[in-house]
Amino acid sequence: LVSRHHKNEDTIIHIKGTEFGGSSHVTVAGPCSIESRDQLLTVAVALKKAGITVLRGGAFKPRTSPYDFQGLGEDGWKIMKEVADEIGMVTISEIMTPSQIDMAARYIDIFQIGARNMQNFDLLKAVGQTKKPVLLKRGLSATLEEFILAAEYILYNGNDQVMLIERGIRTFEKWTRNTLDISAVPLLKQETHLPVLVDISHATGRKDILLACAKAALAAGADGIMVEVHSNPEAALSDAKQQLNMDEFSTFWKGLRDSGLYH
Ligand code: PEP
Ligand code: MN
Repeated sequence: LVSRHHKNEDTIIHIKGTEFGGSSHVTVAGPCSIESRDQLLTVAVALKKAGITVLRGGAFKPRTSPYDFQGLGEDGWKIMKEVADEIGMVTISEIMTPSQIDMAARYIDIFQIGARNMQNFDLLKAVGQTKKPVLLKRGLSATLEEFILAAEYILYNGNDQVMLIERGIRTFEKWTRNTLDISAVPLLKQETHLPVLVDISHATGRKDILLACAKAALAAGADGIMVEVHSNPEAALSDAKQQLNMDEFSTFWKGLRDSGLYH
């Protein structure tokens, strides 16, 4: 169902006036975790001013260590809905279990399935039975075939509003958090009709090469990018190293717009 052999026409996902997979690129930006109303509002206002309409932020966080910040849970989503409604943005947030779906549906526009849950088949089936758009992340060590088959689960269960996002894979390389697999972009575009995005923040885990990676993603045919932006990254409760502060974000954004690759 995800294959171009089945449907040779790009899937375009429309949400509140924003298009994913259409003729213009889309940027998903926001903090790794929702931490407070102030934090999210500050970031969201700056993003909206820059013309960005899709706000990300985690409330249920899949942390490697149980001692790390696990997210604000429902309180985080309440903040996200309030902020997004106030300034008019589309929201994306991760859900980790089927039992979170009903609650998430009350607050969030797009369900994110994280890399660690790409093959959580019960979760894939459950979001497949909803009508909400789903942003599916590539697993930490998933092949493209496994990635595509995970998306297939969602369509097979009745939901064709699916977007794919390359977020880097595990390799032996240590200078980046993951290895951004740029070749995934044209391959996923060739093989599937779904929108394809690239998460440059989790792919690299660092700020200094984000612009180059964003340009590479767009040059390779991505429909958009995801980038983490925080009002005070040094004090962030998760992914402090990789999140851009507002000034860094505006420099990045200007660089991307000036490159002529983003339209
Ligand atoms: C995230 O985007 O918040 C996240 C946890 O990313 P990933 O699932 O790609 O690690
Ligand atoms: Mn993060």
